[in-house]
Amino acid sequence: MTASDRRASAAPGDQPFAGLRVAVVGLGKAGLPAARRLREWGAEVTAWDDRAPGREAAAAAGLHVADPAGDFIQDALLLSPGIPHALPRAHPAAAAARALGRPILVDVEFLYRAVRAAGSKARFAGITGTNGKSTTTALLGHLVARAGIPVQVGGNLGPAALDMPILDDDGIYVLEMASYMLERIETLRFNCASMLNLSVDHLDRHGDMDGYRAAKARIFATQRAGDTAVLGMDDPATAGLRDGLRAHVVPISGHTAQHGGFWATGSLLRDGRGLIADLSTCPTLPGAHNAQNAAAACAMALALGLRRNDLADGLHSYPGLPHRQEIVGTIRGVRFVNDSKATNADSAARALASYERVVWIAGGTGKEGGIAPLAPHFPRIARAYLIGQDGGIFAATLAEHGVPHLRLDTLEEAVSAAADAAFAGAAEVVLLSPAAASWDQFTGFDQRGDHFRALVQNLSKGHA
Ligand code: ADP
Repeated sequence: MTASDRRASAAPGDQPFAGLRVAVVGLGKAGLPAARRLREWGAEVTAWDDRAPGREAAAAAGLHVADPAGDFIQDALLLSPGIPHALPRAHPAAAAARALGRPILVDVEFLYRAVRAAGSKARFAGITGTNGKSTTTALLGHLVARAGIPVQVGGNLGPAALDMPILDDDGIYVLEMASYMLERIETLRFNCASMLNLSVDHLDRHGDMDGYRAAKARIFATQRAGDTAVLGMDDPATAGLRDGLRAHVVPISGHTAQHGGFWATGSLLRDGRGLIADLSTCPTLPGAHNAQNAAAACAMALALGLRRNDLADGLHSYPGLPHRQEIVGTIRGVRFVNDSKATNADSAARALASYERVVWIAGGTGKEGGIAPLAPHFPRIARAYLIGQDGGIFAATLAEHGVPHLRLDTLEEAVSAAADAAFAGAAEVVLLSPAAASWDQFTGFDQRGDHFRALVQNLSKGHA
């Protein structure tokens, strides 16, 4: 048992939230462990989920379950990041908390308070942005782990914050922070925080771009002079934050030299001292967008005290994440790439830009603007197969630009048709990068990507 584990198994006196009355609403992957952990740490927990299975799981765990319609929110509301507290419509529990003037918090806020209450000086690194959060989080976690530093990697990416142990002073939490989470932190202070980029997304929840940017910018709000803010300079919306920050700013870019920062020239990742690594030799970091992610992870790693000379090895050995340009098979010379995580046009653009020519599978629940912003990449598309709710809208855009395409119902049909086209010589890459959410046909991008992987594996059996 490590010192960290010993701290995690809270001793009776080790109850940072003794007497605090917390309502936990939303009992999914993060909510249920949070409710259990808060109770372990002394809080009086009332749990709620609008769906019966969540309530049943909470009751089975011996938690007190009650409807938020009453005024059971006593001291604080821990609201699952997936549940809106304002737009498009506040959940009744959030409305009740606001009416009572109670804070609406996120699980990482409680983790932070517990770590500090335990007397640990473990550091917190937070990563946000519209795209590249998970990759940068996992990559930084990998670099820190390779340096032999105790690390916990999670947050939005999973595992849930309140499933993590309390680390000792030398430990580092590397947390992916979605905008919904950042709106619900209060005291959590990131020793090192990064905002990678900012493009149109989630406006239903934040009202407009200013609201979205303000939510994201909260990652820097509690920082102090000794902290580090790693700032993506490639979007005006993020670059513009520079002057208002208290922390030491390290600028990063996927393409432009940055004084005092990190950037890439083509595939060459650099800082002011020279070359760090050639990313074209890092198989799990393809494309110019990953140069931005790698620059941010390296900037954060150095700010956290890692050695510059160790970065290249870490970049080469990074194992990658599923559903982000994940190569799931190569059949008859055709590479099948699962980029199911690309739920908006901006992230699909990055994937399309990574290949000369592709057979493209896209569609699902589109975002505002559809795939019109992808037009500069249309010449790379040999053929497109469009599925899901907004496949028709996507098809209309492609038709306007003369891109050959076919509208189909299911992912299964699309994979089969795309494979036939690629085998007939249309392209050497079949890319699933939907530029749309998956909710119309799947439970999430991960289920969509898993299904794609399974379909390709089946196909590969047929060609064995
Ligand atoms: P997030 O967690 O922010 O959604 P991921 O790291 O999971 O981001 O990447 C999701 C998809 O977004 C990737 O498959 C890729 O197509 C695209 N992407 C990754 N990094 C970037 C970036 N820095 N800029 C733009 N798009 C990116």
